[in-house]
Amino acid sequence: MSECLFCKIAKGEIPANIVYEDENCVAFEDIAPQAPVHILVIPREHYSGIHEVPTNRLELFTNIFKSSTKVIEIKKLSKVGYRIVSNFGDSAGQTVPHIHLHILSGRDFQWPPG
Ligand code: 5GP
Ligand code: ZN
Repeated sequence: MSECLFCKIAKGEIPANIVYEDENCVAFEDIAPQAPVHILVIPREHYSGIHEVPTNRLELFTNIFKSSTKVIEIKKLSKVGYRIVSNFGDSAGQTVPHIHLHILSGRDFQWPPG
């Protein structure tokens, strides 16, 4: 999807503060952080939500969690703790229709979430 914001970030067409990237995924700082650490992890492949990933592309999930583990290591989050969130659809507050994990850390989080 050439008009997708996160596809453009993945291709380097829009700048972002990249924390980690490899051939499958890109992790970058959220432009409007909701915690002291707020990083988005995206697959380079475009899907709006996790339910759209076909069964022959399930390695996408391995890759996105491998990249998330890299972020946790780079940012040293394993001791302090972190929350991983993925929103889909208006009711969940999704604003960018390209799969992304939010990695949030550096403060206490409430449960249940708002
Ligand atoms: P969602 O609301 O879809 O779950 O998450 C989208 C996230 O993307 C939001 O937290 C928002 O702040 C972030 N975001 C939106 N536009 C940009 C941008 O241009 N650059 C970066 N780095 N983050 C963005
Ligand atoms: Zn996209």
